[in-house]
Amino acid sequence: MTEARDLLIRDATLPDGRTGQDLLILAGRIAAVGPALAAPPGVPTLDAQGWMVSAPFVDAHFHMDATLSYGLPRVNASGTLLEGIALWGELKPQLTQEALVERALQYCDWAVAKGLLAIRSHVDICDDRLLAVEALLEVRRRVAPWLDLQLVAFPQDGVLRSPSALANLKRALDLGVEVVGGIPHFERTAEHGAESVRLLCELAAERGLRVDMHCDESDDPLSRHIETLAFHTQRLGLQGRVTGSHLTSMHSMDNYYVSKLLPLIAEAGVHAVANPLINITLQGRHDTYPKRRGMTRVPELMAAGVNVAFGHDCVMDPWYSLGSGDMLEVAQMGLHVAQMTSQAQMRACFDAVTTNAAQVLGLDGHGLDVGCHGDVVLLQARSPVEAIRLRATRLAVVRRGQVIARCAPAQAVLDLPGRGPATIDWTLQR
Ligand SMILES: [Zn+2]
Repeated sequence: MTEARDLLIRDATLPDGRTGQDLLILAGRIAAVGPALAAPPGVPTLDAQGWMVSAPFVDAHFHMDATLSYGLPRVNASGTLLEGIALWGELKPQLTQEALVERALQYCDWAVAKGLLAIRSHVDICDDRLLAVEALLEVRRRVAPWLDLQLVAFPQDGVLRSPSALANLKRALDLGVEVVGGIPHFERTAEHGAESVRLLCELAAERGLRVDMHCDESDDPLSRHIETLAFHTQRLGLQGRVTGSHLTSMHSMDNYYVSKLLPLIAEAGVHAVANPLINITLQGRHDTYPKRRGMTRVPELMAAGVNVAFGHDCVMDPWYSLGSGDMLEVAQMGLHVAQMTSQAQMRACFDAVTTNAAQVLGLDGHGLDVGCHGDVVLLQARSPVEAIRLRATRLAVVRRGQVIARCAPAQAVLDLPGRGPATIDWTLQR
């Protein structure tokens, strides 16, 4: 692990609005938070200059085995989910472990520089060689000092539809992959989908593992596997350990049915993960106009008491050509697509890429409370809303009390005719 260090951060604003706060990190853990803390001798200081300190960003849903492969072996012409899956199938036989590791490590560098210090990545286990699994286990080991990488055994081609998928999935778990994945809406029939949810939840219960399924990533309002996932979660006592990812069919479902469904999800303690950039890009592709947005019902899930996080899902891969590991871009898109524009809702979008996502992963010690890990991000913003608006520059990224990334403040120098030089940073000067 990163060597546990001491650090005193002076004059920070906290996400809850408190200003003039110091954070003392001792031996890699937050030891005190408050105004004008006494500096123990020999502890280095970082002057926050009033900018906001936040717990690190957490990505609750990603595909690190596919990332940065854009254009290999060709680009997705239709832009649809199904062509993306087909394209990934073309790419898989050409993958080498070395190239997988190299691309994933490059992405982890991008992530860390954006203050993204924990990622749950699905890893496709349908290739009998388990090349991607071995590659990402190696990446997990190598990045562990600065980034928590949690892996999900993901049967991309369907755990029942693909002949060796179940055996491969168990092998991946034996190798150290820690979460059970699934894709019920991609199985051959709705019955097979339901059967896959049952057997995968039972497998997780037997092994004491968490579950995260790609669930109902479809515009089909009758794709209702989330109901089955909530049922088995409750039946097997897996509350708090199961996640339904995407849930896009809920966008198109009948309102009456959803009014029954949301309390069932909440009662089962199932986490929901929306992937705003990818959902708005891939869903509604079979519509003419009006075109559905396709993202799941985020504010309604939150109001029902469900923990909702946002994931990046893809960066430069067969499904999505853009992205840079910036969870504030994800939060910004989620805010727009869900029309979460009140102050409380905008702050909830910030939580969706920090604290809520940390709950999905079951991370210990994520936060700004005394006793949490000394992992923080200094943002060039004074509130969570301003951070989203500006996709704020990460002035410093701290892991276990050690500054591991820095970025120069974003600013422009104006020299307007007749006005003389001025410096702006797009924050309100009051
Ligand atoms: Zn995904």
